[in-house]
Amino acid sequence: MKQIAGDTFLVGLSSKARQQRRPESVTFELTYGCNLRCVHCFNPTHRALPQELDRKEIVAILDQLADLGVLTITFTGGELGTRVDLEPILRHTHRRGLLIRLLTNATRVTPEFLVLLGRLNVEQICVSIYGATHETYERMTGVPGSYASFHRGLVLLAHADLPVIVRMPVTTLNYHEIEACRHLVENLGLKFQYCLDLTPTVTGDVTPLQYRLTPEEKIRIDRAMLSNWGSTPSTELCPPSDDFIECACGQNRFAITPYGEMNLCTAFPIPRYDLTTGTVREGWEVLKRTVDDARPNHQYECPICESRSYCRQGRNDAWLEIGDMSTCLPHFRQWAELEHRTHVLLDPRRPA
Ligand code: SF4
Ligand code: SF4
Repeated sequence: MKQIAGDTFLVGLSSKARQQRRPESVTFELTYGCNLRCVHCFNPTHRALPQELDRKEIVAILDQLADLGVLTITFTGGELGTRVDLEPILRHTHRRGLLIRLLTNATRVTPEFLVLLGRLNVEQICVSIYGATHETYERMTGVPGSYASFHRGLVLLAHADLPVIVRMPVTTLNYHEIEACRHLVENLGLKFQYCLDLTPTVTGDVTPLQYRLTPEEKIRIDRAMLSNWGSTPSTELCPPSDDFIECACGQNRFAITPYGEMNLCTAFPIPRYDLTTGTVREGWEVLKRTVDDARPNHQYECPICESRSYCRQGRNDAWLEIGDMSTCLPHFRQWAELEHRTHVLLDPRRPA
């Protein structure tokens, strides 16, 4: 019998779901509560407010997702480890046949929790790394002692034979430790990725952007990582599309907030369909209409932009930053133009 690698199988299912416009992958933020206070974070509260979904409500939503044929759930926060009912939620998800992925800062990992994750066949655990030293890590997280908790959790994960990826959000505070972070992670036998994108908070507060690298610095880091390590930044690439909202949000993916709002993505918090009064099935129809009815305004220049294939601006970036999906943001224009120019200069077919 022909064997298909797990990743290839999931990519195939995902593309089929997109063609059929079926939800296949969901990001579920279980809480905004977090034990860290990262400077770049897009979390609006860092505290679990009373309106967060309780376990019974979460289980009811998970049942609807399973009945609708959703395949993968990525649980995130805040920090998942701050939810005391995480274990029964994960057990229920597994019982319903959903594949589980987790995003965590690893500071609350325990040996018992890792045994549970092994039993539940968790498909992926993505851990954030904010620095390779106490100083840098804690300048990012704002919490004394957090580096020691993170490092202990990471070592436990490394010895647990679980599918772990460690991802570094690169900012003005930690970019000088990117190579050290890579060493730390790879010396533990784990896979390292980095990410250069930061967003405003989900409420549109642009404070996190003050920690964003300039386009020149981003390109310099990309080049250095590529030539030294052969690595590229981790960016979720979506298939090319003529749609105004080009990504997979509302095509085969969506997100749910800790308050039970169904949105295009965690970083694209519309249309805020309320699952505490409605159903996932109806919410999916609302999301599809949100994508299909979105229209560009007179600000929209992308179709005639010469740097489009180098651009990393999503519709959500401008929406979060200035409330208008059509606008080209100066940061992304400069980044795309610089990338474009660099590629032209490096093109071997370019006349001398
Ligand atoms: S660990 Fe994650 S959720 Fe918590 S403050 Fe840092 S970025 Fe935000
Ligand atoms: S640089 Fe601006 S105009 Fe060009 S593709 Fe990106 S967002 Fe559109």
